[in-house]
Amino acid sequence: MSFENKTAIVTGAARGIGRAISIELAHRGCNVAFNYLKSSSEADSLVSELKETGREACAFQARVDDVAAVTAMVDELRKRFGSIDFLVNNAGIVRDRLLLRMTEADWDDVLDTNLKGAFNFSKAVVPVMIRARSGSILNISSVSGLRGSPGQVNYSASKAGMIGLTKALAKEVAGRNINVNSLALGFIDTEMTRGLAEDFRARILQEIPQGRLGTPEEVARIAVFLLSEDARYITGQVIQADGGLAI
Ligand code: NAP
Repeated sequence: MSFENKTAIVTGAARGIGRAISIELAHRGCNVAFNYLKSSSEADSLVSELKETGREACAFQARVDDVAAVTAMVDELRKRFGSIDFLVNNAGIVRDRLLLRMTEADWDDVLDTNLKGAFNFSKAVVPVMIRARSGSILNISSVSGLRGSPGQVNYSASKAGMIGLTKALAKEVAGRNINVNSLALGFIDTEMTRGLAEDFRARILQEIPQGRLGTPEEVARIAVFLLSEDARYITGQVIQADGGLAI
């Protein structure tokens, strides 16, 4: 694979899927920089774990929806590493409620983090990739963005928006040797899904043809393939990793 001495940014990586993707990238030879919101001790432990692979690693406490913080992070990394080869727009939150009870803040928080965050990082990183005539971007979306989930009009809209962003940006930058793809995940075993009510979880398991949740490590291996040189001819695609949930 093609990760030796390359540099990746993974957003929202102190926990869950972003953490697993960061670890997989480092094990394949990639330097990893990531940001997070609050989880400072998890971020510190991830930096140590990444450095144990012999790669460089650094963490930034920076909100994905804060343009100035995102720009400062990307500028610092560009100066430090010279290039930014991979971007994984992973940071995401849920604020689930039926539309009639959803507040403007529920809507804004989810759209700002999940969709505007991906826009902010893409806008900061794409010029660096264009100069290098090389790069790969992966946007972590959800089956909720493909088929809609009740109680998640904000989240479903944000994840559908990421798919639109993926396809439009893929067309804009394909000629510069930059790939942009999206991973539409089903239910993955992280803190995001651990809070689900037991009866809802049981119903979901019945709906998943493979009969189980996915693991962050499984997602990480798929993500790394989509970022890799082996997937160079795949761009603008939405790959579903959901145990068959959205067939
Ligand atoms: P998670 O365990 O809740 O982790 C989310 C990460 O995002 C955390 O590291 C968090 O930082 C960070 N984050 C949240 N808001 C942020 C902000 N404004 N700025 C910077 N970082 C922020 O979630 P996950 O399950 O790993 O989910 C990762 C991605 O996969 C999300 O985009 C999610 O929508 C998507 N996804 C997940 C599932 C699933 O079943 N788990 C399914 C479909 C899609 P702190 O730790 O500091 O709070």
